[in-house]
Amino acid sequence: MYDVIVAGGGFSGVAAACSAAREGLSVLLIEKHGFLGGAACGCYVNPFMRYHLTLNGENIMISDGLFRNILTRLDEKNAMMKNRRGFNEELLKLVFDEMTEEYGITVLFHSYIISSRVENSFVKSVTVANKLGCTDFEAHYFIDATGDADLSVLSGCNYRLGREADNLCQPMTLCFRIAGVDYDKLTPEVWKNANNLYSKYRDEGKIKNPREDILHFPHVAEGVIHLNSTRIIKKNPVDTFDVSEAERMARKQEYELYSFLKENVPGFENSVLLASAPEIGVRESRMIEGEYTLTENDLKNCTKFDDAIAAGNYDIDIHNPEGSGTSHYFFKDNEYYTIPFRCLQPKGIKNLLTSGRCISSTHEAQASYRIMPICCTLGEAAGTAIGVCAAQNVPCSEADVGLIRQKLISYGAFLGQNN
Ligand SMILES: Cc1cc2nc3c(=O)[nH]c(=O)nc-3n(C[C@H](O)[C@H](O)[C@H](O)COP(=O)(O)OP(=O)(O)OC[C@H]3O[C@@H](n4cnc5c(N)ncnc54)[C@H](O)[C@@H]3O)c2cc1C
Repeated sequence: MYDVIVAGGGFSGVAAACSAAREGLSVLLIEKHGFLGGAACGCYVNPFMRYHLTLNGENIMISDGLFRNILTRLDEKNAMMKNRRGFNEELLKLVFDEMTEEYGITVLFHSYIISSRVENSFVKSVTVANKLGCTDFEAHYFIDATGDADLSVLSGCNYRLGREADNLCQPMTLCFRIAGVDYDKLTPEVWKNANNLYSKYRDEGKIKNPREDILHFPHVAEGVIHLNSTRIIKKNPVDTFDVSEAERMARKQEYELYSFLKENVPGFENSVLLASAPEIGVRESRMIEGEYTLTENDLKNCTKFDDAIAAGNYDIDIHNPEGSGTSHYFFKDNEYYTIPFRCLQPKGIKNLLTSGRCISSTHEAQASYRIMPICCTLGEAAGTAIGVCAAQNVPCSEADVGLIRQKLISYGAFLGQNN
């Protein structure tokens, strides 16, 4: 019997596990891959999106606490790029191994959570499938950090999928890398011409990818370029047949874009298609129905909730779920919204919290807080909250939110200007 079981080892799951252990709890972290890091390592998602805010003329970290600690550890391994955004995900895996080891967390890899036993609104155990067969693990509390809300849904919680009107989710993207690129030739002018030609080819039907332009980032390795530019639309990210098709479609788009760049763009003449991520990236899927649903208006009004456990200011960044185009609502440098604790509480289950991209919100709100730095702060909030509940021996529905906030602030979290 563990104090807490954390389902999923992405940014939010690792932060949840470490923060629960910091409160003195025994933690089992269950992950289907053979490494931690979630989308960052399994889908090659890179770089970190915005995690700063300008307040009273001062530049501060809006995603602080454990996220700062992770950045420090990456720095110690020379794993951060100079722009403070790009990072080496191979070393992130190692950082997460070290952190979970230091916090005394039991990590179970290659294990898929396939069911949950619920009694009287409490999750009692989860069933995990792996090479040993199916095994049940019990705990007093549970955190769902699976991104897709698997544990919550297996426990009978209600959820939303994608847009309210038609359940379409943001597109899935297979990130990939091209090596042997001559960076010196890649001037802004070259990229501008490349994008113009790409548009022309799309209009002529020579490029099938619905994405409007070429989304690319520098990589930690010299001569390697990171592309976040495939776009799979109108597929359900939690229907495995759809995802299987999406993986194959995305690889075709990957080859299409690589061939286009190699044939037409200076700098790519001697390039090599290096690798695609182990699995296609899911921006959005299920979001649980929680005690509060975060909305686009909450974000645009920069709402400051009394029970805020995290804050954000990344743009509302919506990749068109049904075709071309990406819409953005940008926050000003000094603007931010907060996220209430109630978004972590699924309705109907008393000892379960969610964290990361599957908390309770609308499609539009999720388009902002889904980024890795904010998911990390949501995980830290969930783990700390379980620590507070366990110490008082109460269900999450009776959590002392004041004390949770106090603890988070003491660990460095930014929860609003008037903390
Ligand atoms: C293509 C793409 C581009 C993006 N671009 C950026 C970007 O540039 N910058 C940025 O900051 N963010 C970006 N994001 C968003 C960000 O990467 C994710 O939203 C964020 O990493 C989610 O973190 P998480 O911990 O909630 O979930 P995840 O990172 O998805 O972690 C969930 C973990 O749970 C595991 N899991 C799932 N189900 C089970 C199960 N049943 N049993 C056991 N384990 C399970 C998974 O293997 C995974 O490790 C992007 C996302 C995508 C897909």
